[in-house]
This record gives sequence, structure tokens and C-alpha cells, in this order.
Amino acid sequence: MTDCIFCKIINGDFNTEFVYENEYAVVFKDINPKADVHLLVVPRVHVESLNDLDDEALLGKLMMTVKETTKKLGIKSYRTVINTGKEAGQEVFHLHIHILSGGIV
Ligand code: 5GP
Ligand code: ZN
Repeated sequence: MTDCIFCKIINGDFNTEFVYENEYAVVFKDINPKADVHLLVVPRVHVESLNDLDDEALLGKLMMTVKETTKKLGIKSYRTVINTGKEAGQEVFHLHIHILSGGIV
């Protein structure tokens, strides 16, 4: 998707640092953090939201990516959030999982 900000980030257009990445997803810091640690786990494929995801295996891989990321960074306690739909606060329509830890607003 050419006009998707997360696709551009995945594509390396903004030289965003990936704190973790694997075959399925990249992980980077949220630009407007709502906790001491606020990361986004973003699948490499463009899927608008959880409602548009049919790939059960990918969902599993994304959750495992959360675990791999927090393990790598030594984060033991954290909250995961997926906003689905505008009314629920979804702003970027490329599926992502928030990881929030410490001083959560
Ligand atoms: P949503 O509200 O869709 O669940 O979450 C989107 C998140 O993406 C927000 O927390 C917002 O701060 C973050 N975000 C939006 N644009 C960018 C960007 O260009 N770079 C980064 N790193 N985060 C972004
Ligand atoms: Zn996208």
C-alpha cells in the first residue's frame, strides 16, 4: 500500500529503527508514547485491522513476536492493545499490536 504510513516504515522510507524484527513483523517505538515503553508490532503484510485478518497462523506469529520482543528487551510486565475500528481509537489502518510498559497513561 503506497499511502500507508506503516507500509512506508516497513519499506525503510523513514529509516525507522526496528527494536526487533523477524520474518513476519517489525517492531518500532510509537512516535507519541503513552507509557515509558510504547512499541508497535506491525505485520510486514498490509492488513487494515483485526477484522480483516483471516490468517490464523499470522496472528499467532504476531503474538509470539510480542513475546520475543519483550524477552529481548527484558520487559517482564506489559500490556498489549489492539485497537480495531475508528470508534475504538484506531488511527492507523494497518494492523498493529501496542506493547505498553511502565507509567501507562
Ligand atoms: P492506533 O490508534 O491506530 O491503535 O495506533 C496508532 C499509533 O501509531 C499511535 O499510537 C501513533 O502515535 C502511532 N504512529 C502514528 N504515526 C506514526 C509514525 O509515523 N511513526 C511511529 N513510530 N508511530 C506512529
Ligand atoms: Zn500498510
